[in-house]
Amino acid sequence: MSKLPEVRYWSKEFETIDRPSLKKLQVKRLKETVSCALKTSFYKARLKKAGINGPEDIKTLDDLEKIPFTTKDDLRECYPGGLLSVSLEEVVRIHTSSGTTGTPTVIYHTGADVDRWTDLVARSITATGAGRKDIFQNMMSYGMFTGGLGLHYGAERVGMTVIPIGGGNTRRQIQLMHDFKTTVLHITPSYMLHIHSKTGECGFSVNDLNLRKAYLGAEPYSENTRRKVESLFNIDVYNSYGLSEMNGPGVAFECVYKCGMHTWEDAYILEITDPKTRESLGPEKEGEIVFTTLTRKATPLLRYRTRDLAFVHGGECRCKRTHRRLSRITGRTDDMLIVNGVNVYPSQIEEVIMRVPQVGNNYQICLEKEGTLDKLIVKVEIYSKMFRGDLGEIEILKEKIKTELRAAIVINAVIELHEPGVLPVFEGKAKRVIDTRQKL
Ligand SMILES: [Zn+2]
Repeated sequence: MSKLPEVRYWSKEFETIDRPSLKKLQVKRLKETVSCALKTSFYKARLKKAGINGPEDIKTLDDLEKIPFTTKDDLRECYPGGLLSVSLEEVVRIHTSSGTTGTPTVIYHTGADVDRWTDLVARSITATGAGRKDIFQNMMSYGMFTGGLGLHYGAERVGMTVIPIGGGNTRRQIQLMHDFKTTVLHITPSYMLHIHSKTGECGFSVNDLNLRKAYLGAEPYSENTRRKVESLFNIDVYNSYGLSEMNGPGVAFECVYKCGMHTWEDAYILEITDPKTRESLGPEKEGEIVFTTLTRKATPLLRYRTRDLAFVHGGECRCKRTHRRLSRITGRTDDMLIVNGVNVYPSQIEEVIMRVPQVGNNYQICLEKEGTLDKLIVKVEIYSKMFRGDLGEIEILKEKIKTELRAAIVINAVIELHEPGVLPVFEGKAKRVIDTRQKL
């Protein structure tokens, strides 16, 4: 890990634009987006009701407040074509969500939309210091999930050598990482930890690999997990953020200074809002992330409530980019667990267990009913050498995790320690929370 990182830009003019010019550009593009949105029956009705009949009703960024929020349910109600603002002949690609939790959401892209998305990903990759010399192994699923294709095209545009392997098949992943001297990975954090535990079985050590960087995504993860992955593989890990409603990856990415994710504000208006009052919040205040697309023509989205929680860092970044930096995602408004009346986010639990050095690469959070009470069980894999030693040590470790969890989340959890390989492994998005309490 280098001490003085080299700062590289993909489109310097836009990345280092001064704030007043950026705001001017946002207003211009917001007007264009409103014009596009008015071509859909959904937004036409909504915006008219809010007194916006045309782009002339948007004069400054303050006018954004007049625009009603768009929710995931709105997107579902518009399925399949209610938010399409161009003719279908202009569309070159469709992405939908998996639909596992209801009607899927759909985003249409014109050729120019895909091109602009690709450019944002290329910009993001360049911001992490990667480039033409890198070998990029993309372990995210391809297909309707935007993580695979999104990074793929951006990496090719940068000129990286791309290995489009997709998710799964751990042995082959490790073999290819070795044979082609892969330098950069795109992967979920849970799978990255799994890869580490399997490297030895495949006859390699981390030192036989040529890895330099990893982009972890698709699941929220804690700062301690980042540090753990960095030290296990001796690499730099960069946080990134994206969601299919905003194209996918390439919405916000960390630069070489790794101090929050620059949100590409020439392509998206970023707001942090209080989840209850909907009031707009300033720097360092946590709230729900709300995005407005500024450059997508086929499916414009205005003030889309992501349900992800984060805050914006104050101050300037040493890389001289002027785009504000988003914190890691601290939770999702719909991820919140209520355990005997106490609110807790899975990420808070992960933060605690991942800073315990004996903890291995996998964990699971289970919620059960015990009589009328909720029972929180945290199952944690620990390194197998612990089980060969004194059993008293295991009890001490259990107690230590329990005490630290109680201090962090004010809940008495039951801690179960397991040998490696006992808990389920996920090659895509991990399912960490098993809630078997009966829903009322
Ligand atoms: Zn920066």
